[in-house]
Amino acid sequence: MQAVYGPVASWRLGISLGIDSICEMKVCSFDCIYCQCGRTTRRIAEREAFADPKTLKEELSRYPYISQVANIATFSGSGEPTLNQRLGQLIEVVRDCTELPVAVLTNSSLMDKQEVRKELAQADIVVAKLDAPNERLFQEIDQPHPDINFHFMLDGMKKFRQEFRKTYALQMMFVEQNKRYAEEMRAIAEEIQPNEVQINTPSRANKPKLSPSELGRVSEAFNRMNYISYYDSRKLRVKPFDKRETAQRRPE
Ligand code: SF4
Repeated sequence: MQAVYGPVASWRLGISLGIDSICEMKVCSFDCIYCQCGRTTRRIAEREAFADPKTLKEELSRYPYISQVANIATFSGSGEPTLNQRLGQLIEVVRDCTELPVAVLTNSSLMDKQEVRKELAQADIVVAKLDAPNERLFQEIDQPHPDINFHFMLDGMKKFRQEFRKTYALQMMFVEQNKRYAEEMRAIAEEIQPNEVQINTPSRANKPKLSPSELGRVSEAFNRMNYISYYDSRKLRVKPFDKRETAQRRPE
């Protein structure tokens, strides 16, 4: 798999050049019940060397006009970006090779590690996942690796807010299991103090999603916060450079 894919239309970030720091379908510390990439084949909690900076540089050199086509480069793709111990170097490569601001989508599982927070802080925007208000729902929805601790993860998310003054968003995926817990989720969000809360529901055809009225009821709990909801957002369309590479990470 290539490290560069897309560009893709993101309801939160606009036209986004995808950067995959894992390039192996699918390595993650979670196995979320709604994951658009299918089941996790390697569920790990320790960082390893995945995509390397030299290869990423070579791939980016094939798209010299990318800064005119996309408005952001986003680390996402075939697994959890922070599992790559070279994430910081990869962010540097994107900065050297493009004029795009850099976003990282993370599942938050390694944010209790100082070196991970330090590397995430190299980005302009960090979007961190929070799907559950308690351990029970965390296990049920995100199915984490046994070494991932819900409370350590929340501590890491709060610490990151103290260290990172750029744009920090929380992304919450609402499904049947957590739709009645919006108040509890808001209370945790208020402790973390993100710049924005992104209220999402699975958008791929093969995953059960909440209806607009169900997600509307969830959103009401966040009225006091700056939030954006999936159904209220503008949907963009964009043609990827390589359909196959993109479809692997973003199936219709
Ligand atoms: S954290 Fe992301 S990549 Fe990992 S299983 Fe969940 S949705 Fe899929």
